[in-house]
Amino acid sequence: ESILYVVATPIGNLADISERALTVLRSVDLIAAEDTRHTRQLLMYFTINKPLFSVHDHNEHQRVEKVLADLASGLSIALVSDAGTPLISDPGFVLVQAVRQAGFKVVPVPGPCAMVAALSAAGLATNRFCFEGFLPAKSSGRKKQLQTLLNEPRTMVFYESPHRIVECLNDLQAVFGPDRLLTLARELTKTFETILSGSIEQIITWVQADPNQQRGEFVLVLAGAPEQEESESLQIAAEQVLKLLLEELP
Ligand code: SAM
Repeated sequence: ESILYVVATPIGNLADISERALTVLRSVDLIAAEDTRHTRQLLMYFTINKPLFSVHDHNEHQRVEKVLADLASGLSIALVSDAGTPLISDPGFVLVQAVRQAGFKVVPVPGPCAMVAALSAAGLATNRFCFEGFLPAKSSGRKKQLQTLLNEPRTMVFYESPHRIVECLNDLQAVFGPDRLLTLARELTKTFETILSGSIEQIITWVQADPNQQRGEFVLVLAGAPEQEESESLQIAAEQVLKLLLEELP
């Protein structure tokens, strides 16, 4: 059947692959992978042998035609990325959009996602949050981007690579101050998984003291700004009540 499955794969721990992901990967005709060598390793581990082709940031537009033609001829395709959920700071958006526009079915096979894993263990508000993905690589651009989030009341989630973690933490402190609460989630689901919560200042001290903590993959979960408008409007309301009460006094 002509279906594009969007299949989540592990973010480190291979035991996190879902039974349904395996079933789908075994059943499809073709697998579209961000990096075919990487995915071949994964498939070999699960003894799956399927034709692979690459879909990455540099060829996604060209691949659309191939995928549409394959779907039109009745083939089913699974889209996977190197780790976690495709399209989440990974390729696939252009393809999924085109496939849906062409009227074919797109079926998600949910599973690991570093953002959701980090949020679920961060201990920061999750009723509303925003995913900011990767910040700009250069400090100037990064700070500018962070400035726009200064009054963001929702919990914010960032992805970061090991090369920049210390610089990024310093920029967070420069923009949000030392006291804003932060959870740093490192190497999730892997052997050296570390999840640390504290003020930005505390996290910096801790990461600087132990270079081992500067390695690997990171998700940063930052507390939102305190809801100022709400407390302000409460105060205004309280003042109005007080005024009315005072008018009633003899
Ligand atoms: N599609 C993936 C997902 O669903 O999370 C994200 C891919 S993005 C290219 C890679 C970034 O995700 C890393 O730089 C890191 O910020 C985060 N990440 C992926 N795996 C992680 C892990 N095991 N622990 C912490 N962060 C991880």
